[in-house]
Amino acid sequence: MNIFNTVQDVIANFSIVTAYLFLVNQFVFRKRALGPPTSFANQLLIGFIAGLLGILLMVFTVQTDGSFIDFRQIALVIAALHGGVAASAITGLIVFLMRMFAFGAISTATVVASANTLLIAVVVGLLFKSKLSYWKKWTYALLVCNVLTSIVFYVNLREKSLLPIFIYIIMMSLGGWFTAYLSQFLAKAKAYFDKVEREATVDFLTGLHNHRTFDQKFNTSLQAAEEKQDCLSIALVDIDYFKKVNDRYGHSNGDAVLKQLGDLLMQTARTFDIVSRNGGEEFSVLMYDTPHEHALSIAEKFRIAVEQHHFRLNDGQSIRLTVSIGVATYPDTNRDDLIDQADGALYQAKTDGRNAVRSSRAIKKQI
Ligand code: GH3
Ligand code: MG
Ligand code: MG
Repeated sequence: MNIFNTVQDVIANFSIVTAYLFLVNQFVFRKRALGPPTSFANQLLIGFIAGLLGILLMVFTVQTDGSFIDFRQIALVIAALHGGVAASAITGLIVFLMRMFAFGAISTATVVASANTLLIAVVVGLLFKSKLSYWKKWTYALLVCNVLTSIVFYVNLREKSLLPIFIYIIMMSLGGWFTAYLSQFLAKAKAYFDKVEREATVDFLTGLHNHRTFDQKFNTSLQAAEEKQDCLSIALVDIDYFKKVNDRYGHSNGDAVLKQLGDLLMQTARTFDIVSRNGGEEFSVLMYDTPHEHALSIAEKFRIAVEQHHFRLNDGQSIRLTVSIGVATYPDTNRDDLIDQADGALYQAKTDGRNAVRSSRAIKKQI
């Protein structure tokens, strides 16, 4: 036995598993949490790609003392972890079929080893369905792989040395723990990244776009409007006398009102309008390809919707509120003045007595 060949083979296997986990984490679980997916189609997909990993691990066998061992079982455990029992069963089936029909002659030993793969696929799949902790699942899964595969080795290699079995158990355990650790690390890193990304773009209270996202959307919309010679309207919405709500009912009731106003604006806006909370009790609605008069009538809908709404406080009582809204439109107003003009119109609505929609044109006339 050449120890260097064995080490080389083992490193190749570790690298394949590492690359696989990274790629799956990056592409398959990009938009959702790691773990068994809800749709059957996704479970099949995960089972299928883990099956490809299983094939690759069979190709990269490890030479030990004249015997060949491989870590296809790691693919089964990964499939169970990522996609549940359906996925691990698919992976098991793919590995089984490949071993039977694509890797040389079929002997009793091949059939026994392949059947073992199917059995492990189901047992490990069920294990990962259980309520055991993450590390216990892995420990039991590796135990199942080690015990069943050792029995198969023993049956298949009866007259030969037991060294390959020991090497298999050691390598499978080390590789398994390494895979478990790496999977958990990647899942945690992804969850943390998603959280940071969400918090950086979404307003935590209302779930609307925050000011930073508003800025991005405003700039891209304005650019698109310029290039396509479309118009872009903006409505700035500010609650009237909101300070009184806080003073009278407390800050947490103020927050409840802000959240409900966010929901109300979303319901009243069209699906393609961009609703943001720009800060405090100030909201904005970006209306692409919407001429000024039309934007004013939509803003009026917002005003009426708020006026008619019963805002629920934490103790169950309801209060009424009004908003003032300022509207400006590109290219009537040039791009650099758009927000200032909408702000001016909002100020006008406030000075005219509040609960009103005002156009930036009204401001211009006064100047
Ligand atoms: P106006 O009609 O002139 O707009 O009067 P206003 O009282 O609404 O305006 P002002 O800007 O004086 O007060 C806004 C208040 O909004 C002040 C602040 O206490 C409150 N506020 C800002 N952010 C939050 C928040 O996140 N939660 C709560 N509960 N209140 C907030
Ligand atoms: Mg304000
Ligand atoms: Mg206000």
